[in-house]
Amino acid sequence: MNRFEFARATSVAEALSLVAEKPGSVWKAGGIDLLDHLKEHLIEPPRLVDLKSIPRMNTIDVDPGGNLRIGPLVTMAQVAAHPGVRSTYAGLAHACGEAASPQIRNVATIGGNLLQRPRCWYYRLASYRCLKKGGDICFAVGGENRYHAIFGDEACHAPHPSNAAMGLTALGASLVLQSSRGTRTLPADQLFTIPGKDPRRENATDPDEILTAIQVPAAPGMRSIYASVKEKAAFDWPLVSTAVALRVDGGIVREARIMLGAVATVPLRSAAAERTIIGRRLDNATSEAAANAAMAGTQPLSDNGYKVELLRILLRRTLRSLA
Ligand SMILES: Cc1cc2nc3c(=O)[nH]c(=O)nc-3n(C[C@H](O)[C@H](O)[C@H](O)COP(=O)(O)OP(=O)(O)OC[C@H]3O[C@@H](n4cnc5c(N)ncnc54)[C@H](O)[C@@H]3O)c2cc1C
Repeated sequence: MNRFEFARATSVAEALSLVAEKPGSVWKAGGIDLLDHLKEHLIEPPRLVDLKSIPRMNTIDVDPGGNLRIGPLVTMAQVAAHPGVRSTYAGLAHACGEAASPQIRNVATIGGNLLQRPRCWYYRLASYRCLKKGGDICFAVGGENRYHAIFGDEACHAPHPSNAAMGLTALGASLVLQSSRGTRTLPADQLFTIPGKDPRRENATDPDEILTAIQVPAAPGMRSIYASVKEKAAFDWPLVSTAVALRVDGGIVREARIMLGAVATVPLRSAAAERTIIGRRLDNATSEAAANAAMAGTQPLSDNGYKVELLRILLRRTLRSLA
């Protein structure tokens, strides 16, 4: 690991100036993903700016209208255990509570989880100069690709890794980003970018922007759920996952957001599955039809065709459990 400076910021303004002072400096939250990058020389920043001491970055608040505000430095374990999140936003609590392992969830923050980089083993090894590192080839094509994306004909096939992103996009959350240029709010589903835009990046944040809050709108009558299939019960990323948020009225689905995870370079919203259930009763037949509809457009690689069937079954079961 190269030498770097460590600076602790006590306000957003101080954090911004600490990064501006030394170009190439990076934010540190829990440090789980950052440390992996430093150890493998994937990044060599001159300075790490720790965000943990900034007030209001690690609190969860519910306003009188029922809207949720989550500080990005709140740990995954705290989100999963919060009574207000568990009762109203169960899908988000499940998503955060199933990530990684108890030890990691107690350190990893929800902001860092959203902004972690993909786990593709070719990207993670410095010796492979893949598209994400400015190279001109995705080694997963024609290589070891059993964990890679099955949707999209993008040049890069690294699947999106974040559990929190699944729960938040299903709930229509938005993100507050602050830089020296001001503050902007981005819907969570616009945060993630496809490799076609620039394969070296996975999100629309600028390097000098800090995620300062996550806002989840009040969801009266909305039910949500997250489910995944993994090879191991802990210390592992999902092979496939889904997050679903539904509003059912008089037995009929009125509103639905269905997200598919670990199968594309971004959390993938399935409009086809949503169309299949909106205006209908959610029973076994509609659950099955929606799961089939969601598989349209899959393009598995040589070794990950099994993910198509796994995802279909997971989505069908998840919808049935909501029914
Ligand atoms: C064995 C193992 C299993 C795992 N399994 C899962 C899993 O199943 N699901 C899952 O989702 N994750 C999983 N993870 C990933 C882990 O959850 C993430 O690495 C962790 O959540 C990152 O959070 P952090 O606070 O440590 O972020 P850091 O490592 O501190 O930061 C990550 C990135 O986000 C940036 N960043 C952090 N906070 C901010 C902010 N407020 N504003 C701007 N930029 C910011 C940092 O600069 C950095 O680029 C696993 C990790 C391991 C090691």
